Amino acid sequence: MAVLPIFTILSLLFLGVESEYIAYNTSGRIVDGKINVHLVPHSHDDVGWLKTVDQYFAGANNSIRGACVQNVLDSVISALLEDENRKFIYVEMAFFQRWWRQQSPKLKAKVKELVNLGQLEFINGGMCMHDEATPHYVDLIDQTTRGHQFIKNEFGQIPRVGWQIDPFGHSAVQAYLLGAELGFDSLYFARIDYQDRAKRKDDKKLEVVWRGSRSLGSTSQIFSGIFPKHYDPPEGFSFEINDVSSPVQDDVLLFDYNVQERVNDFVAAAVAQANVTRTNHIMWTMGEDFRYQYANSWFRQMDKLIHYVNMDGRVNALYSTPSIYTDAKYAENKSWPLKTDDFFPYADHPNAYWTGYFTSRPAFKGYVRMMSGYYLAARQLEFFKGRSDAGPNTDTMADALAIVQHHDAVSGTERQHVAADYAKQLHLGYVEAEKLVASSLAFLSTKHGSAETVFEQCPFLNLSYCPPSETILSDGKNLVVVVYNPLGWNREEVIRIPVYFDKVLVTDFEGREVESQILPVTDSSLSITNDYVKAYLGKPSGGTNKYWLAFSVSAPPLGFSTYFVSSAKLADIGASSTISLMYTAQGSTNDTIEIGQGSLKLLYSARDGQLTHYVNSRNSVTTAAMQSFSYYYGNDGTDKDPQASGAYVFRPNGTYSIEYEGQVPLTIMRGPLLDEVHQQLNSWLYQITRVYKGKEHAEVEFAIGPIPVDDGIGKEIITQITTSMKTNKTFYTDSNGRDFIKRVRDYRTDWDLDVNQPIAGNYYPINLGIYIQDDTMELSVLVDRSVGGSSIADGQIELMLHRRLLHDDSRGVGEALNETTCFLDQCKGLTIIGKYYLRIDPLGEGAKWRRTVGQEIYSPLLLAFTEEDGNNWMNSHVPVFSGIDPSYSLPASVAIITLQELQNGKILLRLAHLYEIGEEKDLSMMASVELKRLFPEKKISKLTEMSLSANQEREEMEKRRLAWKVEGSSEEEKVVSRGKPVDPTNLVVELAPMEIRTFLIDFEFIQMYHVS
Ligand SMILES: [Zn+2]
Repeated sequence: MAVLPIFTILSLLFLGVESEYIAYNTSGRIVDGKINVHLVPHSHDDVGWLKTVDQYFAGANNSIRGACVQNVLDSVISALLEDENRKFIYVEMAFFQRWWRQQSPKLKAKVKELVNLGQLEFINGGMCMHDEATPHYVDLIDQTTRGHQFIKNEFGQIPRVGWQIDPFGHSAVQAYLLGAELGFDSLYFARIDYQDRAKRKDDKKLEVVWRGSRSLGSTSQIFSGIFPKHYDPPEGFSFEINDVSSPVQDDVLLFDYNVQERVNDFVAAAVAQANVTRTNHIMWTMGEDFRYQYANSWFRQMDKLIHYVNMDGRVNALYSTPSIYTDAKYAENKSWPLKTDDFFPYADHPNAYWTGYFTSRPAFKGYVRMMSGYYLAARQLEFFKGRSDAGPNTDTMADALAIVQHHDAVSGTERQHVAADYAKQLHLGYVEAEKLVASSLAFLSTKHGSAETVFEQCPFLNLSYCPPSETILSDGKNLVVVVYNPLGWNREEVIRIPVYFDKVLVTDFEGREVESQILPVTDSSLSITNDYVKAYLGKPSGGTNKYWLAFSVSAPPLGFSTYFVSSAKLADIGASSTISLMYTAQGSTNDTIEIGQGSLKLLYSARDGQLTHYVNSRNSVTTAAMQSFSYYYGNDGTDKDPQASGAYVFRPNGTYSIEYEGQVPLTIMRGPLLDEVHQQLNSWLYQITRVYKGKEHAEVEFAIGPIPVDDGIGKEIITQITTSMKTNKTFYTDSNGRDFIKRVRDYRTDWDLDVNQPIAGNYYPINLGIYIQDDTMELSVLVDRSVGGSSIADGQIELMLHRRLLHDDSRGVGEALNETTCFLDQCKGLTIIGKYYLRIDPLGEGAKWRRTVGQEIYSPLLLAFTEEDGNNWMNSHVPVFSGIDPSYSLPASVAIITLQELQNGKILLRLAHLYEIGEEKDLSMMASVELKRLFPEKKISKLTEMSLSANQEREEMEKRRLAWKVEGSSEEEKVVSRGKPVDPTNLVVELAPMEIRTFLIDFEFIQMYHVS
C-alpha cells in the first residue's frame, strides 16, 4: 500500500480526517499584481464536418464520431445553474437555435437569467464560425447578421467578441469588417503560420492591434489575440470524460491524492504562458471540439483548480470569458504591436500549407457563390412585393447560405456526405426563393386585373439546359424573357439561352428588333448536359440539336426589362438572328487568327492554337500574352515527410503542362455580338474564350473533368496567363471580395520567411480577382467563385481551377478529396464548368473594370421565362420596371449589398463603397446616395444608422468602442474620412472609400410598388 505523502498527512490533520463535502471557493476574481489565469470554458461545435449539422446536433451517426451538441447545451446549462461563478461561452447560433426551440418556457427563463448574469455569454454569434478564405464578404455579413438578430430578439444581447478559433488563416476583412464594424472589442483565433507564431512568441507579439483596411485605418481596428498553441487547454488540463489528464483527487480516503501536484502543474503552465504574453493576464481556452457533453466533468475539475490554486496563491485563477479578459487587457492601458494586412497563407508544418482548400470542391464553391448572388436579388424582389411570413420567402435560403459559410463547408474540407447535405439545404432554400422571385416578378409585371403570370427560371443554364426557353418555341409560341438587374446602375449585356431553332427573332417591348446571334451547342457541352441533367434531375435532358441564342439586353437599376423571342416567319428571315460563322484552324499555316469584333482583339497562332497577343485598339494596349493549362501531381505522402496533398493542404509533387491532344487546335465562331474560340485540349479539358463586341475583356469558360487518376496519382489543375510584364515578384489578391492586398512572392511582411514550398507557400485565396502590374500596364483576372491563385513567375497569373486527390492529408477529415458524380450505378470524377475574365489595361486604369465587372459577376442578371399568351403581353403587362427613381442611378462607386424587409417590417439597407483609398483616380472619392430617389414611392419616417449586423445603433456602438493604443504610433495619425451622419431632411448618405453603412428604415406609407 502506498504511504501518504507528508503534504497529505498534514492536510488530513488540518482539514480533519473525515472526507466530507468540500465547498469549493470558485469566486476568484482578478487580483492585481498576480498572474491571472482566465479559464474560459468553451466547446468548438462545427456546423457540419465529419457529420452533417443535424447529425452533430442530435448525436446521430455516432459511429463516425461521438458528438452530440444537445448534450453539450443540456449539460452546460445544468452545470451553470449549480454554481453562479461558473461561466460558459456559446458561439454557433445554428446549433443554439436548434436547441432553444425545443426548450420549455421554464427552462428558457432560467437560461435568460444565466445570460443576464453573464454566466452564459454569446460571442462571435453568427450562425456558424465562418471560413475566412473562401466566402464572399456579403455572405459573411449576412450569416453574422442572422445570428446576431436571433441573439438580440431572444436575449437582448450584443456580442462583444470575435471568436474565430479554428479557421485556417485569417482575413483582413474579418478583422475590420466582421470585427470592428460589428462593434467587437476583440478578436481571438489560433491558426497562424507556424513560423509567424514562433517569432511572435519570442517577441511577445501574440496580441496586437489589427488594422485590416488601408482605407479605414484606425477607425476600424481591433484588438486581436492569437493563442500560443491551439484552442485546447494547456497539456494535462482537458477533462472530457475520456480524456487522460489527471483529475484533481482531493478525497483523502482515496488513493492518488494529488492536490499539490496538480497545483504545481497549473502554476508551471501559467508561468510558461505568461512568459510569452504581455501583461499579467493569460487566457486558457478550456475546451475543444464538441466538448462538455458531460459538462460537470470539466466544471468539477475547474472548481477544484480555482479553489486550490488560489489557496496556494502563486497565481490567481478565475472563471472568465473573452470579454472579461479583453476588459482586463484594456484596463492595463498598454500599447500593442500593430498588425496590418492578413494571416494568409496558413502553414502548420514546413510542407503543410493550407492553400489547397482555397480551391477544394470547386463545384460546391461555385454553387455557393451563385446562390449568394441569387439571395441578394431575391431579397430585393421580396422587398418590392412585400414579405410574407407564411412564405414563400427567403428565410430557408438565408439559413442554408449561413451554415455553408462554416469553416468546413464552403472551404471544401468536409466529408462527402456532408457536402451533399449542404448542397441539398441550399437547393431547398433556392426552390422556395425561386417561387418568391417568380411571384414577385409576376406581381411587378402584371397589370391590375389581369391573371398573374407564371414565370419559370433556369438554374441549370450553365449546363445549357433550360426547358422553358427550349420548348416554347417548338410549340409555335413566343417566349417572354424578363431580365432583372439587381445592381444600382443601368446595365447592358449579352445574355444566352438555349433554343431548338436557329431561325428566331428577338424584339424588345417596343417591337424593335434586337440584334441576336445563334451559336451551336457543341457535342462536348451536350454530353456534359446529358450526364448532369440525368444525375441532378433523374431524367434525360431532351434533344440533341440545340443552339445558344445570344442577344443584347439592357436593364434599368434594381429593375427589369422584357424581351420577346419568336420563331422567324418566312417573311422575317432577313431580320432573324445571325447564325455564327464557324470554321476551324488547321495546324498547317503560319497565319494569325484574330478574334473580336470590337476594340479588343485576341490573336492566336493557327499552327498550334495558342493565344499569342492581346490588343486593345481603344487604349493602345498591345502585348504578347499566352494562356496554358498544367497540373500538379498531388503528393501522396510517401516520401520522408508523410504529408499528402489533400482537402486542406496543397503539396505539389512536380508540374506537368497539358498539351493539345486533338487534331484541330481551334474552332472559331464569329458573329455580330461575339466571337468564340473553342479548344478541346484533351478528353477532359474544354475551353471557350469569348470576346464580346461591346466589352473589353475576354471571358473564358472551362469544363474540366473527369480528372484522370487511373495512373494512381491525384492532380490539381491550373491555368496560367503569361505576359512579359516585369512584375518584381509582386501581385495583388482580394480579401473576401473586398480590399486588395499586396503579395510578394517568397516574402512575408511580419517575419523572414523560410521558403519550403515555393508554389503552395505563395498561394492566396481569390474571391474577386488577382492582378499584376508593371510600369505601363496591369493584367487583371476576375473569378466566378473562390479559387486559389498566385503569381509564381513574374508577368504571370496562375489559378487553381480543380483538384482531385487520392490521399487524405491527415487533418482530420479522414477522406481523400475525390469527388465523383454517379449516373445510375456508374460513377465518374466530377466535371466542373466555370468562368474567369481577363483584361489588360494601361497602368492605373484596371480598378474600374475590376470593381464594376466584379459586381456584375457577383450579381448576374436574373432571367425569368414565360410564354406569351396570344400576342397581347403589352395589354396586360408592364414591360419595364425600376425600383428606384427612373432618372436616378447609384454612383459607379456604390453598390446596394442589402435591401431586405425584416420580419418586424423594418427595411434593412446596406450601401457599400466599392473602392479603396487611392485605388481609382475618379472613383476613390466620397460618394453620396440620395435615399429619397432610391425609394421614390415611399416616405422615410425614420432612418437609423446601425452597426454592420444591425443589432445596435451605430452611435451607441462608437461610444462604447475601446480606444486601443498602438506601439510607436504618433498621435497625428492619418485622418480617415467617413461619411457624415445622415441629415433626416435631405436623406443623403455619404460613403467614404471602402465604407459600408447599414440602416434600418421605417416607411411612413406602405405603398406597394404595384403598377395599376
Ligand atoms: Zn472547426
